[in-house]
Amino acid sequence: MRVQKIATLLLGIFIFGCSPEKQSPESAGADLSPAMRSYQKAQTILNAGIATLGGAEKIKALENISIEYEGLRHMINQSRRPEGPWDKEPSTGKIIIDRKSNRLYNLSSNSYPGIGAFGMSWAITGREGFHIDVYRNHHGNEVMKLSGQETDWPWAASTRWMPPLLLLQAAENNTSLRWIDSYQKDGRTFDAISFVQPDKTVPVLIFDATTHLLEGYETVRDEGVYGDVTDFIRFADYQDFNGVKLPTKRTDYFNGEIARELALQISVNSPVDENLFAIPAAYERPNENANASYTRLKKIGEGVYIDQDMGGIMIVEFRDFIFVMDCPGNFFMSQSTIDAVREMIPDKAIKYVASSHTHGDHAGGARAYFYAGATLITTPAHVEFYKKLAKIKQTIMPDPFFSSPKEPVIETFANKKVITDGEQTVELYNVGPNAHSEELVIAYLPKQKILWQADIFFIPFTGKEVNAAMPITIEFAQKLKALGITDFEQIIDAHHSRVATRAEFRATLQKAGYEEF
Ligand SMILES: [Zn+2]
Repeated sequence: MRVQKIATLLLGIFIFGCSPEKQSPESAGADLSPAMRSYQKAQTILNAGIATLGGAEKIKALENISIEYEGLRHMINQSRRPEGPWDKEPSTGKIIIDRKSNRLYNLSSNSYPGIGAFGMSWAITGREGFHIDVYRNHHGNEVMKLSGQETDWPWAASTRWMPPLLLLQAAENNTSLRWIDSYQKDGRTFDAISFVQPDKTVPVLIFDATTHLLEGYETVRDEGVYGDVTDFIRFADYQDFNGVKLPTKRTDYFNGEIARELALQISVNSPVDENLFAIPAAYERPNENANASYTRLKKIGEGVYIDQDMGGIMIVEFRDFIFVMDCPGNFFMSQSTIDAVREMIPDKAIKYVASSHTHGDHAGGARAYFYAGATLITTPAHVEFYKKLAKIKQTIMPDPFFSSPKEPVIETFANKKVITDGEQTVELYNVGPNAHSEELVIAYLPKQKILWQADIFFIPFTGKEVNAAMPITIEFAQKLKALGITDFEQIIDAHHSRVATRAEFRATLQKAGYEEF
């Protein structure tokens, strides 16, 4: 009974102690809903952050902001070896947000080991614009038009480069603003709030609680090779531009590890180059009828198919089983290939999958094949990578293999492996080491005269032309000659379903001055 009395007493204090006249500003929050409390707490932090960067008026007075960046990417899971220390490669780009004309330009250029630069640009005015492949490795000279919701991502992603505009976006008409946390790290105190951007990204904005300066922002995601991932973008060395503070240094962290270090060259209210918003002369509109006869698994030879939804994943049908070449992305991407194969050939199991190398866009889907009970074929130095891949932690997007794990079945070969049933034959070759990966597997089908490769020859998918060969492609041609693999009619690029002819492969080499193939 004593407990009851205390409860009654406490209730009395609560009722009579909280008369409106006696409310302190802090206790006023108790009358608010949790959502409103969180919103208002976040708003106070955000307002202090905006004031520290110069205030909303000065930020809104900027006609445009332009950033040119330059630095190095630490090639996590995109290096020559499956483990660190990672290769470092140049990363450059340019971002303009032209507030006065409601338009943006975003160019990013990243190099990869051995294969040089890949670059994409976006030019958007309002909710209309276009996207092109600057070096034409993947998309050739095709213009990809963007409209409406398709422009949300380039707008939101460009805004994430510019703290004053990011905070302004959080403040303007944003009922999604929420308080997240106050915490200490390395002897400093931080406030964390979040909001939802128009592209549905939820950046957690982190402020130094003493200076109210935006330290950076965090996002979380699932990643095929690493499972749960936190990306942290940290801004530093803020400087004053027309009364507004902008960072001149940016460091990207991937699960706490440095992924990119950039120096930012800022200018505000400079003249904007009008040419950036016009489609370059050499680029064409896509052929609207190009995909009229589309089927997901496209037959390219006797018992040989390409999964066009997954780039150039090759499926080979043997008398009693199926072989698949490459397993990109994550469990779900490769599971969709498995499902498509099962639908087309329901009575044969996928016995083997071979992965070209350990980069996530070629290997992350191995988990789906482990789950399906297939044997993974790889080269000796890559075995540990796949054993680790089988044991990653996933809480954001756990796949079925995470709930029902088993020991992966892995077979290795050093230089050459032949899979044959007398009728159908796949020859696998390790063409490494090269500048892209220390071990790299290609496939050759002698009967169908089909050659399959990844990341050593890029065929512009939508364009009709081929580019001048990269140095790694010339090295590959020399390797093919040394292996005696010169008799092929079709060559496949793991990233795309445009199949090139041997003549086109030779043309790409000739454009780079190599005549001996
Ligand atoms: Zn690669």
